[in-house]
Amino acid sequence: MRLQGKNAIVTGASRGIGRAIALSFAKEGANIAFTYTKDEEGAGITRRLLEDEGVRALAVCADGSDEEQAAKLVKEATDGLGPVHILVNNAGITRDNLLLRMSADDFDRVLDVNLKSAFLLTKACARGMMKQRYGKIINISSVVGVFGNAGQANYAASKAGLIGLTKTVAKELGSRGIRVNAVAPGFIQTDMTEALPEEVKEKMLGSVSLGSFGTPDDVAALCVFLASGDADYITGQVLHVDGGMA
Ligand code: NAD
Repeated sequence: MRLQGKNAIVTGASRGIGRAIALSFAKEGANIAFTYTKDEEGAGITRRLLEDEGVRALAVCADGSDEEQAAKLVKEATDGLGPVHILVNNAGITRDNLLLRMSADDFDRVLDVNLKSAFLLTKACARGMMKQRYGKIINISSVVGVFGNAGQANYAASKAGLIGLTKTVAKELGSRGIRVNAVAPGFIQTDMTEALPEEVKEKMLGSVSLGSFGTPDDVAALCVFLASGDADYITGQVLHVDGGMA
């Protein structure tokens, strides 16, 4: 029970990697407030799975890229669970297209959801974490943010931006006991990657040293480690979980 007595916010946990992170945290004893946007049914399933682990679970319909909603989420989590110790900025979307065909709207929306929401939620949680002189912030980036990927200028920019945000906030808040790290998953089997054409998947598999795609639990295990006391001397880092893809 490495996270016993801790309260965590996990964004975008109605399915996929976010749900796996929330559930792994709950198995270690953490209470969870998580967000979703449209998927009521998925959010309900996540909440029941968390409650089955015997922890308190709060499902909040909120888009963290809106400043008011981000502040409201942190208030609801604090009122419902108590002080927030762990924040995982996981919510993410793709709107893929080649540069010349990518609309400014699709660029903005991906930057808003993937990067701006992490900035707003980090800001909204920082004061409480500073007061308690303890906090763990984990930003879910991507190998794409490190190496780039054709057709994903918006996504790559948002995920690279998360790395810059991580390193900067780690420097600003380290002296207050707040650790900030980024996790860079490779190809993980979720609904997000399921939508890709078979030939793209085949090509990607060829670049994975371990010869298989990852699972949400592979990412969640790293997040549990980072959130736990075992990683208390780690901050400002980007940890890859990609089977050797990068
Ligand atoms: P997914 O599409 O299966 O799930 C995304 C989650 O985010 C959903 O619960 C969705 O409801 C939520 N969400 C979307 N927009 C939101 C918003 N505006 N506010 C709040 N929640 C919102 O995706 P996934 O594959 O589980 O990916 C999770 C994270 O991991 C994303 O940030 C993604 O970029 C990153 N990632 C995924 C992979 C992969 O291979 N699947 C690789 C690298 C990084």
